[in-house]
Amino acid sequence: MKVLKFGGTSLGTPARMIMLNELINVDQKQIIVLSAVSGTTNSLLEIAGLLSTNKNEEAVNKLNNLENYYHSFIHELFSDPIYLKKAKLLIDEHFTYLRSFTIDLFTNNEERIILAQGELISTALFHFYLQSKNIPSILHSALDFMKLDENGEPDIEYLKLNFLPKINENPSVNIHITQGFICRNFFGQIDNLKRGGSDYTASLIGAAISAEEIQIWTDIDGMHNNDPREVSGTSPVPFLTFDEAAELAYFGAKILHPQSVLPAQKYGIPVRLLNTMEPLANGTLISLVSAKDNITAIAAKDNITAIRIQSSRMLLAYGFLRRIFEIFERYKTPIDMISTSEVAVSITIDDDTSLEKIKSELLELGQVVIDQQLSIICVVGNFPVKESGAASEIFDALKEIPIRMISYGGSANNISVLVNSTDKKAALNALHKKLFL
Ligand code: ASP
Ligand code: MG
Repeated sequence: MKVLKFGGTSLGTPARMIMLNELINVDQKQIIVLSAVSGTTNSLLEIAGLLSTNKNEEAVNKLNNLENYYHSFIHELFSDPIYLKKAKLLIDEHFTYLRSFTIDLFTNNEERIILAQGELISTALFHFYLQSKNIPSILHSALDFMKLDENGEPDIEYLKLNFLPKINENPSVNIHITQGFICRNFFGQIDNLKRGGSDYTASLIGAAISAEEIQIWTDIDGMHNNDPREVSGTSPVPFLTFDEAAELAYFGAKILHPQSVLPAQKYGIPVRLLNTMEPLANGTLISLVSAKDNITAIAAKDNITAIRIQSSRMLLAYGFLRRIFEIFERYKTPIDMISTSEVAVSITIDDDTSLEKIKSELLELGQVVIDQQLSIICVVGNFPVKESGAASEIFDALKEIPIRMISYGGSANNISVLVNSTDKKAALNALHKKLFL
């Protein structure tokens, strides 16, 4: 069985939703995971934001606009009046429900319920569409089997126990549709797997049912060897290992939700990144095999903050790093890069929500210097310790660019440097020229 995930842009217009039909092989058992129609999650998030600041009138206006958008969407999607009517009822129901949140006092839980409507609508519409074309399919609610455990981690065992039987219940139906992104938390409330989480859903399902392959369909032909927004002449990377893909996804290659590599990797399920606009292109296959044995791709991650903690107390002391790390742990702030000298340590973070609080605690350990608006440039590939040359090529390419931090040797797959974001474009281009051309 294959799992196919289609992102918001693959559903962005009725014509595109109709096109999905051609990408699905109705003769094979498949699980179709859908995101919300593109733009919907952003709009719902805005609406929730307005409600949380008591701007209910504005929220109602935005809801009306979104509802109108869906009404014209379904008019284009369905020519059959029976299905058009069904779709109208569906849209009415969801928007009546959404409007109920504009009357009562707003709580934070409600944001997640509001966001979930996007995926619930897109999957129901696609289900109606297949029915209107006489293609047998079943719509499964992800809320019945996608659950977070007490640590907020998806529960794969629960997914296995509760989803596979539902598929097997109807052996004659090949197409099983479900929502990406949405789930229930440990308390049974509606929750989600964070922005872009539909990829993660697909990977979790693929892992739970031991799928033959997980396909992530987007609007670009695979993961590119550099950021196409910053560098011209980038090309798709045909093969990536799970480790390389995880590094790239985390360091800015927006095409894949970073966490989504893990379940597939753990259960050894290959992930294929494909392009709905060019279905025959090879895309990128993520598996245990890498194509190249050296440098595979370059990516960049912006909005990085670097924090340097300097203290003579660090000299020859033990336990100093632990005390630093504990502060970040207390504020649930992940650390990306680390670089140490005997009297100082530099750390980068991506989430600066608790920066001020972290800083004030760090000041008890030493002097603190903070730099913002930095970018991590990450070169991904295979850099075995025994082989020489990769680092020298990278630094030769970057010889004109001031470097704030370097990370090498953390894994055999990643060499990262930290630069000012204003130098990012130049750095990506210089590396591209040196490493790929
Ligand atoms: N619809 C959600 C989002 O926009 C999930 C996804 O698209 O993967 O973040
Ligand atoms: Mg996405």
